[in-house]
Amino acid sequence: MIVDYHMHLRNGRGEIAHETSAVEPFVEAARAAGVDEIGFTEHVYYFRQTRSLWTVPYQTERCVYDLEPYVDAVVQARGRGLPVKLGLEVDYVPGREEETRELLAPYPWDYLLGSVHFIDGLGVDGEPRLLDAVGVEEAWRRYFETLASAARSGLFDSLSHPDLVKIFGERARAFDYEPVVAAIAESGVAVEVSTAGLRKPVGELYPHPDFLAACRARGVPVTTGSDAHSPDVVGRDFDRARELLRSVGYETVTVFERRQGRQEPLG
Ligand SMILES: [Zn+2]
Ligand SMILES: [Zn+2]
Repeated sequence: MIVDYHMHLRNGRGEIAHETSAVEPFVEAARAAGVDEIGFTEHVYYFRQTRSLWTVPYQTERCVYDLEPYVDAVVQARGRGLPVKLGLEVDYVPGREEETRELLAPYPWDYLLGSVHFIDGLGVDGEPRLLDAVGVEEAWRRYFETLASAARSGLFDSLSHPDLVKIFGERARAFDYEPVVAAIAESGVAVEVSTAGLRKPVGELYPHPDFLAACRARGVPVTTGSDAHSPDVVGRDFDRARELLRSVGYETVTVFERRQGRQEPLG
């Protein structure tokens, strides 16, 4: 089984298009790429139902869409038997866990991805850059501390691009992944192996092989994702993702349905 569980629903011009007609090109691209099932995971901060959570301008400026058409588009495609799942890429906001849970509770998600893109108003992968504000060692410490809290929150089914802080190729010295991986293992959340890092300055898969090996050692389940913002990126570089997974001993991938995960043999 090959799943691509991370993509953003866009039309042929790369614009947000939360409609069933935009789903179909992604399904066709998945079929062509040998991907068995895809999941849409729009950014949570685009939806005005979640407006009360956001303080960073990058998020508040984008918070203008209605969540219902997005959910309806994917649910309708799912109902027609297309191999699609309904997900969301949810920014973790420390201290706002209950509110996040309540805002997202009314919708029929198959899974929720947990992401850390901003910490105290500073961007992990965007401006104003956390790395510039606090330096690489402190950025890494804060990033993984926040990721551990995201795991412990119980809000999420899988953690997206789990070592995103390496995106620009700047790395802390001799970083110890054990504390964050222990938190992930205790919480039962999965981690995503993402090919998006190959298309960023760092030029690597997320997460680092050492991080993934530590996850494997503790029995942490995995998902795979491309973070496609257009159909042509669906399933991109998945041979590399599977190679990394196999190299640290993974034999299964998680398939989600209505927030229940099950293991299927890695395709
Ligand atoms: Zn992301
Ligand atoms: Zn994404």
